[in-house]
Amino acid sequence: MVIHVRKYWEIDQAFKFIEKVKEYNDFSFIDNLELVLDYSLDEAGYYLFSNLDRKNLKKKIKLFVNPDCCMKTILTGYSEDDSLVAAIVHEFCHFLDNKLKISQRYEKTFDTNLHLNIYSKENLLEELAEVMYLYITNPYLLKHISKERYEFLATFFVSPTECSARKFVSIWKKWPRQVKKKCRLKWGITASNNSVKILHGFKE
Ligand SMILES: [Zn+2]
Repeated sequence: MVIHVRKYWEIDQAFKFIEKVKEYNDFSFIDNLELVLDYSLDEAGYYLFSNLDRKNLKKKIKLFVNPDCCMKTILTGYSEDDSLVAAIVHEFCHFLDNKLKISQRYEKTFDTNLHLNIYSKENLLEELAEVMYLYITNPYLLKHISKERYEFLATFFVSPTECSARKFVSIWKKWPRQVKKKCRLKWGITASNNSVKILHGFKE
């Protein structure tokens, strides 16, 4: 199996987010996380939380991803990111949801759907994983799109990314022009002269 160097960089980026979630929240249960690159999968990924590690008698968490099903463009912190970084963090979010039992309360709290992207439309669990991905990578954008969801997730864990206008601008700067435009038109938020410009809120 050949793994392109670029993919190592993406895996590293994803694990930086995961490590920070662990560190900021004292989630020692994240220690048993294992990433499996499976090029035979017909989807970007899934996760498994069952295999018992016989040596340590601890449950292993396995995240499976297929890098070939991910897009080359990395849009970290945007609401539509199909990169390997996003796929790994997305699967991690399913695991975190399962561990912290977020979806049960999410379902009771929100009676409308938030369609961040096509995955969010699949079902509530996918919607939540995508909302969590945004909370972890760009909480300022999530707070702008849905303040209620931002505050809801904050009761479960601290985002490893600073929720500030300054941080939003630094993330925004890395997106390609078309994505900046999409963000402005869809979510009504943009940046100029190193400050955030709110054009309109998002109506669900
Ligand atoms: Zn998923």
